Amino acid sequence: MSTHGVKITRVFSSLAGRILHYRGQLTRTRLYLFTVTLIVFGLALGGLDSHTEDETITGKVMLLSLPNRHDSGLSRIDGSLETTGDNSVASISAEFDQWDRVTVTAGQSLDAIFRQQGFSAASLQQVMALNKETSQLRKIRPGDQFAFQRYTDGSLRRMRYALDETHYLLIEHNGRQAYASIETREIFTEARETSGTITSSLFLAGKQAGLSDNMVMKLANLFGWDIDFVLDIRAGDRFFLIYEKIYRDGNFLRDGEIIGATFINRDEKFQAVRFHTGDMTQYFAPNGHTMHKSFLRAPLSFSYISSNFNPKRFHPILKRVKAHKGIDYRAPRGTPVLAAGEGRVIRSAYSKNNGHHVIIQHANNVVTKYLHFTNRKVKQGQRVEQGEVIGYVGSTGLAEAPHLHYEFILNGVHRNPRTVDLPAAEPLDGTRLSDFHQAAAPVLTRLSHLEAASMYASP
Ligand SMILES: [Zn+2]
Repeated sequence: MSTHGVKITRVFSSLAGRILHYRGQLTRTRLYLFTVTLIVFGLALGGLDSHTEDETITGKVMLLSLPNRHDSGLSRIDGSLETTGDNSVASISAEFDQWDRVTVTAGQSLDAIFRQQGFSAASLQQVMALNKETSQLRKIRPGDQFAFQRYTDGSLRRMRYALDETHYLLIEHNGRQAYASIETREIFTEARETSGTITSSLFLAGKQAGLSDNMVMKLANLFGWDIDFVLDIRAGDRFFLIYEKIYRDGNFLRDGEIIGATFINRDEKFQAVRFHTGDMTQYFAPNGHTMHKSFLRAPLSFSYISSNFNPKRFHPILKRVKAHKGIDYRAPRGTPVLAAGEGRVIRSAYSKNNGHHVIIQHANNVVTKYLHFTNRKVKQGQRVEQGEVIGYVGSTGLAEAPHLHYEFILNGVHRNPRTVDLPAAEPLDGTRLSDFHQAAAPVLTRLSHLEAASMYASP
């Protein structure tokens, strides 16, 4: 493996770990965890050495900085995108449109916030006594955002609380009495088109195409069941994307969803189009087959494969030929390991050879095994969702270095997890299929225009 490849590998696995850790504090989004498994785009481009066992992964890891939680919270709730970490700036100014912003911390009540802001207990009582809208203020949560304006004597003039992404609760105090109203914020969704060609990694190609990391992950997530973004990506692969950008009160708020996308991987074309079915939004290939599969191709974001599925492998510790019935994914100690599919934990235990290990029973007679965890996160008998963290990469049991040994067993037979045909979910049929064709046609037309335009643009 080239040093370049190793470096990219480390950077992205480090990033994956950090994002996971960071996000873990905020939400436990199942899909998000899966997308994280796919962000190790860079490493696929240098040829992978599947026999390296001595590679040390404890070397210096390049750290990529992520926005901190406070900043991201502000920009999410506050459409103005101002970063006003310092409340004193606003307090000094007498400008009416200046707000003192407060982010609720763990265990903090509105009562505590009012005291901190120097507002009277009487004004809090007036606010709370108002109506059913203000009753929501009794259950404020860490991360919630308040903003205050005050009179020159420091007393409460206005208070703003984000009820959700599009609504504020606004309290106005005239000095004697408080009034509540709900303010609706204007949301505007715009469809954007972009395309990119991969030279070194999907991440960089996405950046050059003006995509956020989050959108790059959505793109990878969308095709992640068909394309192995760790091993299959090549320089020259291309993507064409139509996606949403969401604006609030005239300011960019966040990326929306992908509307449609084409991914050309090693000259093979994959396409997906968004479709609303019932109350669900799903993505389908042009033929009406869902993009979603019942198993993840790889259950973690790994650095590289240190030992492939091999029935005649020479075992490095046992020093004899012993079938390798799974795949060893080398990854830094502590890398989260995800349930490859929905199922029930039939074993979560420690043994001399397997170390801390987990076995999951899935539908259709599939069993998946995960060995050598540093520690386990699930209990025997527990149900797990696809993408749920079940443990962390380690080297317990018969293991030289931190890695995940992963097995996929179908009807009692070990199969190669990288190549086994993954069962697809139900395709669209009947009216739903014709509805889909109708909805997808303009999107597919746009995508082919994008593709045609890129042909003329490329040298
Ligand atoms: Zn193994």
